[in-house]
Formats: sequence, structure tokens, C-alpha cells
Amino acid sequence: MSEQVCRECHRIVVGQTCPVCGSSNMSSDWSGMVIIIDTERSVIAKKMSVDMPDKYALKVR
Ligand SMILES: [Zn+2]
Repeated sequence: MSEQVCRECHRIVVGQTCPVCGSSNMSSDWSGMVIIIDTERSVIAKKMSVDMPDKYALKVR
């Protein structure tokens, strides 16, 4: 099964539904994986308004 990206929260997930926001609005056309561990101190996390440590895609089409 291939990794897809949730268009709602940009989280990289496996499957057809995002386990966090419950959205099935997925895209397989994405680029740039970023792993956010420390959401408090990560500039990227703030930019993407991410509040949970996870894998995220920078660009989703
Ligand atoms: Zn989501």
C-alpha cells in the first residue's frame, strides 16, 4: 500500500482515511517529506500549523 497525504492536515498516512482528522480527501501527488518531532520548537511546525509530531508533506497537489 502506498503512502498518501491528507489534504486537510498534510499528514502522510497509509490507507484511504486520515486517522487524525478522519478525512478521506487524500492525494498521492505530493512531494517533500518532513518529520516533525518537537512541535513546540519547530519553525516548520508553526508554519504548517501542526500541533502533533508526525510525518508531513510540504507540497500537496
Ligand atoms: Zn488529516
